[in-house]
Amino acid sequence: MEIAIRLTTAPKAKPGPENLGFGRVFTDHMFIMDYGPSQGWHDPRIVPYGPLSLEPAAAVFHYAQAVFEGMKAFRTVDGRVALFRPRLNIERLNRSCDRMCIPALDPDFVLQAIKTLVDVERDWVPSAPGTALYIRPFIFACDTVLGVHPAQTYKFLIILSPVGSYYAQGMNPVSIYVEPEYVRAVRGGTGEAKAAGNYAAGLKAQQTAVAEGHAQVLWLDALERRYVEEVGAMNVFFRFDDEVATPELSGSILPGIVRRSVLELLRSWGVPAVERKITIDEVYTAHAEGRLKEAFGTGTAAVISPIGQLAWRNNVISINGGQIGELARQLYDTLTGIQTGRLPDEFGWLEEV
Ligand SMILES: *Cc1c(COP(=O)(O)O)cnc(C)c1O
Repeated sequence: MEIAIRLTTAPKAKPGPENLGFGRVFTDHMFIMDYGPSQGWHDPRIVPYGPLSLEPAAAVFHYAQAVFEGMKAFRTVDGRVALFRPRLNIERLNRSCDRMCIPALDPDFVLQAIKTLVDVERDWVPSAPGTALYIRPFIFACDTVLGVHPAQTYKFLIILSPVGSYYAQGMNPVSIYVEPEYVRAVRGGTGEAKAAGNYAAGLKAQQTAVAEGHAQVLWLDALERRYVEEVGAMNVFFRFDDEVATPELSGSILPGIVRRSVLELLRSWGVPAVERKITIDEVYTAHAEGRLKEAFGTGTAAVISPIGQLAWRNNVISINGGQIGELARQLYDTLTGIQTGRLPDEFGWLEEV
């Protein structure tokens, strides 16, 4: 399929690296394509970024049949533009689509669409340390009947946002609230899909955590409130003495690409890194026995987010004295080093645009 390109006649001024924040500024163009029952996915085009026109009855507004992805394009130290393991995002997008009854996309075509759009917006890829061009592909249902059923019409869009360093003041360990009551996802539900509704469901707990002075929620499993699942919209890792552990993919956990990359890096360094069940009691017991050395979240936005403190039922513990752990630091430096071409891409993780 040929991607039609219509360029803007009114390009926007690009903000300086200090004013970017996360997902507040969008580039000049966006990618759109449509799906209909007879044509399948069709009419791929790049057009000036701007509002969409949708009927109020559009299914996505009522029943949240919608999925998304999140990935980044990086400016390397020698001026190239590279994506980090984009095929894994595209495979995950199709798995999310399958779970939400959205028709699959051709992975090679999606990669071509992402690369074509990023190439059009190449000058928007920032180069200051810690900055990147965030890529947000998403798909939603457009049918205009209120019956609950898988839609027959969809839109697939890609929008781009230059984002600032997640760590304006340097990498900073955060305080995390262990949520005792609300849950994010349950096995058999949609937790392993990047489905829009999952995030609305998590807002209530996030609001409480922030009101009590914490940065994020640590989610426990929905059935027993015992097993650790994720931290906010990040996967979570603990270092117990020299073993690094992360919750196994149980069906309610989002399989993060940074999670997978961290496991692969640790194993390549000879660090024992396991995927298994982890109870919140085990975390607190290990802390009491002096065996909990580090904890951190992983995700595309922050890469590595060290956890300095956990609060569970009025029992607050400090991890590694609230300081960045040695492995968290090494993982952050290595991943960002590969992404920006400062370190060799030994695993073939970069895909140049
Ligand atoms: C996107 C996401 C992650 C992290 O995935 P990455 O591919 O590593 O960015 C983790 N948990 C949730 C709930 C997410 O939505």
